[in-house]
Amino acid sequence: MKKWYDKKIRESDKKHIREFLKQFNIRLHHKKISCGGEADYCNGIVIINSRGMSMHKYLSMAMHELWHCLCYRQGLYSNYHYDKYPKTKKQIIKFRRIAFKAEKFVDKKAEQMMRDYFPDIPYEHGYKDSKDKEWYYKHYLDKYYPLT
Ligand SMILES: [Zn+2]
Repeated sequence: MKKWYDKKIRESDKKHIREFLKQFNIRLHHKKISCGGEADYCNGIVIINSRGMSMHKYLSMAMHELWHCLCYRQGLYSNYHYDKYPKTKKQIIKFRRIAFKAEKFVDKKAEQMMRDYFPDIPYEHGYKDSKDKEWYYKHYLDKYYPLT
């Protein structure tokens, strides 16, 4: 059965989430993501391409990207978060080595935070199983950060 949070996100919900992120000194932008995904982050900014997105998915993504920002700030998984665009081969190797671990960590933290602040809304994991891992390697790592 469809739940209230499966409905398309409303402007007022977006505003609410924007306010929520503000307390972490993070801004929220809406625009298309250049690498084709639905959400991204850079230092202090969460970016979501919200077209047609449900409340539940939107909030989960905002939480997920928020945690990337917090990791960046705190130097967690720093070879993944210190530089969004590793260029040298050495950087790319380091980046790829911890990439999926970092994503799982971010997912875990985002889920905890959802439970604390929005207990009525379940967190939608970005990366759950081996299928997601496969997707991540194929459509992200190998595409944007290939080893060759
Ligand atoms: Zn992520």
